[in-house]
Amino acid sequence: MLKSAILDEVRVHLSQGVLTLLEARCMNEAIAAADIEGLVTCESCNFQSAVTNGDYFICPSCERKQCRFCPRIYDENHFAKTCDQVTHEEHEREREEQDREYAELLQEKYEKEHEAEQRKQRVEQERLKVEQERHKAEQERIKAIDEDLRRKEKNIK
Ligand SMILES: [Zn+2]
Ligand SMILES: [Zn+2]
Repeated sequence: MLKSAILDEVRVHLSQGVLTLLEARCMNEAIAAADIEGLVTCESCNFQSAVTNGDYFICPSCERKQCRFCPRIYDENHFAKTCDQVTHEEHEREREEQDREYAELLQEKYEKEHEAEQRKQRVEQERLKVEQERHKAEQERIKAIDEDLRRKEKNIK
């Protein structure tokens, strides 16, 4: 970045030939920098360093312990596993998580429906009870009338 800023500043003073050479040189350097063997960029603070051995590097700037080959933190989930294995495990975990959420949802739905059903049954039972009591009261009323009538009949005889 610094180089291209300088280049922009001096550009007007240079001949086209020199400028072309300089620009080509800057581009080559940029490519070379990008090609440094084992260049690792810290995912958290963008600090770059070249790491040529080991599975992880510890960022000198923010102390993040990062996998050398992928942007993940190199923790017990990554230890002694390839990045592909970790990716695979992450997908597995995600799927398990989704399955569990789905099962919980189903369970909740079932419980709600079950509760609603029980409430409905309780209401229905209450209604039946009231109905039966009314029926019983009615029968007793009829019985009383009946007895009254019989008594009156007896009196007539
Ligand atoms: Zn860092
Ligand atoms: Zn990795």
